[in-house]
Amino acid sequence: MKTFYFKSKLAVLGLFLLANTILSAQDQSILINLHDAVKSVKQYHTSEKFNYDVDNAIDDGLANLQQLEIPKNAAFVFDIDETALSNLEYELRYNFGYDPKTWDEWIKEANATAIPGVKRLYDSLIARGIKIIFITGRNFALIKDTELNLKKAGYNLYDTLICKTPEFKGKKAVEYKSQIRNELSNKYKIIGSVGDQWSDLEGGWTIIKIKIPNYMYFIE
Ligand SMILES: [Mg+2]
Repeated sequence: MKTFYFKSKLAVLGLFLLANTILSAQDQSILINLHDAVKSVKQYHTSEKFNYDVDNAIDDGLANLQQLEIPKNAAFVFDIDETALSNLEYELRYNFGYDPKTWDEWIKEANATAIPGVKRLYDSLIARGIKIIFITGRNFALIKDTELNLKKAGYNLYDTLICKTPEFKGKKAVEYKSQIRNELSNKYKIIGSVGDQWSDLEGGWTIIKIKIPNYMYFIE
């Protein structure tokens, strides 16, 4: 009886230790100090590793493009923020915070710079005669500022620029962007899309999908 009692106690102790180990492992994997998280994200996005990862994603996309037969009305869709243009300066200025007022002011400055790997993709597509379409979640009221910024960053030639109109207010980005691609498919054959969010790429009406990294924010 005593032995059984002792064994049971050991088993309970074992379970307690196991549960504690699992819980502390979960704690460590789920909870990260916000200060440390911000530091890691800042370190990554300001490092050469970021450009290296973008370049790899673009190279994979270009390799996939080689396998495609390019139709006459071929077009490639680009997202703008954190894809064609980098807003890292805004993110650093406000310590990765977001506020609609400062965000609109930043867009009006039109000083976002091109992400080199994405610009290389753009140049390569232009050289092949593939049409460029920009689809952005930026407010339609900021279309002129967006056009100016794209030109300043070297994106001089494009066929279509779509900004978000009030009819899409409250809709998820993935719904908005795929619906626009669907509508544009009457005019173009969309052979690929590039974006920093999966919501730029999912929902159909594209063949190649190029996802570039963004650890600063997430858009559904
Ligand atoms: Mg984006």
